[in-house]
Amino acid sequence: MARRDKYDINKIRSQVKKKIGKHTDPTEFKPPKAEEGKPAIQFRFFILPPFGVGDELATGPAEQTMEDFFLRNGSHYMDNKRIGCPRVINDGKCGICQHGFDLMGETAVKEERAAIAKRLLPGTYYMVNIYFPNIDKNPEELRGQVRWYNCPKTVFDMWEACLFRDDDGGDPQEPLPFGVFYDEEDAYLFRLEVVKQGQGNNYGKSMFFLTESFQSVPIAGKAGKPDQPKIDEILAKRHDLFDKIPDVIDADIDRIVRNLTGEETGSGFDADETKPGKAKAETQKAKEDTKKDKKKGLKPNVSESSSKPAAEPSPEPAEPVAGEIPVDEAPDEAPDEAPDEAPDEAPDEQPRDDDDVDALLDQLGD
Ligand SMILES: [Zn+2]
Repeated sequence: MARRDKYDINKIRSQVKKKIGKHTDPTEFKPPKAEEGKPAIQFRFFILPPFGVGDELATGPAEQTMEDFFLRNGSHYMDNKRIGCPRVINDGKCGICQHGFDLMGETAVKEERAAIAKRLLPGTYYMVNIYFPNIDKNPEELRGQVRWYNCPKTVFDMWEACLFRDDDGGDPQEPLPFGVFYDEEDAYLFRLEVVKQGQGNNYGKSMFFLTESFQSVPIAGKAGKPDQPKIDEILAKRHDLFDKIPDVIDADIDRIVRNLTGEETGSGFDADETKPGKAKAETQKAKEDTKKDKKKGLKPNVSESSSKPAAEPSPEPAEPVAGEIPVDEAPDEAPDEAPDEAPDEAPDEQPRDDDDVDALLDQLGD
């Protein structure tokens, strides 16, 4: 009997890959991990303007319009899966985040709150299209390429600061970039600088890189003389970012919330929990622990993880147990050689400093 084509196999494959997060997309720009004692790694690129419905993109005409130059997104990495967070992506309700906020609301200890945030709340990322001009300072394989980049908050904040600056600061020797930086005919080149911090990357030294004459420039052509055909060609290579946003899967979120509320003082998720037998036993054990904990009025796991020495190295970095990561360090990106069950798209920088925790706390009660 012939196979019916009730299901679109290509679509299913791409969905499965996206959900598991176990594939690399060659159109994505991912900064490499900076190494100790090595010079900072630099990249120079333009942020490209948002596309509108019908605009020609790398994969055909756009079906949706980007309202801004970026798409905000965030993922929970739980159950060895990457699950889009509806709160970050759509300003929607997210049971996992809500559970995190509830737990955070139960303690006034900042370190405990930070540990809960680290374990349960996603980092916020901003997805953009970027263009690497064909210059020596860029790695050869990126020259002239358009990639999409899921940039961390540290970098986005610099872009936002530029957008909200009204003038150049008044110093002709040190003018500041200001206003719209992604106008294809009048753009600022951005220099991303990657240095090692803790186990992750730090991008704090990145900046808009003004040309020698302190001018903004077209993304192709010379200042005041944009090369329109070339610009059009670059813009047509933008990627459909809506396709790259992690899926929000309500059923997964519901299941995880059920698990979490059954073991709210447990140690988070690990690979074994997907095995039904053990998961059941652990849930039962966690429930018992929870009962005990309630009697004591304590959240032992939280205080345990926040009282850990900050620099304690983990011999097995592949386990995405966020609570184990020292508060001041960015989580490690899961290594490429990680076992199959580890998501390879763990965030490379998840800022969890006090400001971020305060910002999250502001959302309590939403
Ligand atoms: Zn969430």
